[in-house]
Amino acid sequence: MEQSENCSVKVALHIRPLIADERQQGCAQCVSVNPGKPQVQIGSHSFTFDHVYGNGGSPSSQMFEECVAPLVDGLFQGYNATVLAYGQTGSGKTYTMGTAFNDNSGIGLIPQVMNALFNKIETLKHQTEFQLHVSFIEILKEEVRDLLDTVSMGKSDNSVSNGHYGKVTIPGKSPIQIRESSSGVITLAGSTEVSVSTLQEMAAYLYQGSLNRATGSTNMNNQSSRSHAIFTITLEQMRKLHSFSSSNDTSDEDMGEEYLSAKLHLVDLAGSERAKRTGSDGLRLKEGIHINRGLLALGNVISALGDEKKRKEGVHVPYRDSKLTRLLQDSLGGNSKTVMIACISPADINNEETLNTLKYANRAR
Ligand code: ADP
Ligand code: MG
Repeated sequence: MEQSENCSVKVALHIRPLIADERQQGCAQCVSVNPGKPQVQIGSHSFTFDHVYGNGGSPSSQMFEECVAPLVDGLFQGYNATVLAYGQTGSGKTYTMGTAFNDNSGIGLIPQVMNALFNKIETLKHQTEFQLHVSFIEILKEEVRDLLDTVSMGKSDNSVSNGHYGKVTIPGKSPIQIRESSSGVITLAGSTEVSVSTLQEMAAYLYQGSLNRATGSTNMNNQSSRSHAIFTITLEQMRKLHSFSSSNDTSDEDMGEEYLSAKLHLVDLAGSERAKRTGSDGLRLKEGIHINRGLLALGNVISALGDEKKRKEGVHVPYRDSKLTRLLQDSLGGNSKTVMIACISPADINNEETLNTLKYANRAR
């Protein structure tokens, strides 16, 4: 595969509607979309992105087709990819990604990825053998936790049942380490990687992992807002190569097999709001600092990748500054395709955090 000339980091903005809570508080909208442009206005500031969805921009149903479907297609050509949802807690990251898979969130990006993936496999399976694996982890306080590991999640029964999606068995595992092979392939040693063959199985793992994310911790509430959740789909393909022989064009000659492997990371990032000093134990603050480390490193990596001048000068891309960027290293930049979806609330009470998100996302372009 050739190194692509233009770095493919795309940034889309997703503006959710005012939610009931905001309407009850009498919030006004402080964000508007400039008609006909992927551009938003907040106070005297305006920001332009690759796409703007919601609130008078394109409908969010287009988001999958425009931003994520090309990444799914790329997987079949062997290209790694990453989709990141960024924004303050409550801005719609989990809703947009569909990370908390349940009956109401079939419209999230992950369920749509799963549909597209299995549809495409169905059309190609006569000529290609496919293997799919998923893993689901979260990074909390610079530690990697396995959301598919029932042992670390304190459960004794390792088979999970979900009325709608059937039953799947999840093996138990030990601590997780991020490793890099000599060819630059990043693996998570010790994380549960399960083989899946149906859409229902994949959905069941997503669902189970999302439950673990929400309930894995005993006395910290709102934990999911402080961790990065990463659902990873790995697609392996073994394709039979044929060449039509010139003497007899009805028979084809076996030319061996082609093997391709690629992965798609679907990342529901930690809330981008600044750590608030709560309580006297300093615990929250420490977590805030760690979360900022991942988001800070991510911003630096994406900005280094997006800056053509810097790239030509061979500027160092600081992947090693956090677990998050280390883990995503082989799927950000290079031949990989990356989409960041910045999620915002349009409510005036969130004005300050919304502006922070727009600035962060703007820097990623
Ligand atoms: P986050 O994961 O960023 O903390 P959530 O995805 O949990 O935010 O969204 C916060 C609230 O807003 C939820 O009640 C969710 O249902 C609602 N919400 C988010 N995005 C949308 C949207 N595009 N349309 C309608 N409701 C939304
Ligand atoms: Mg969330």
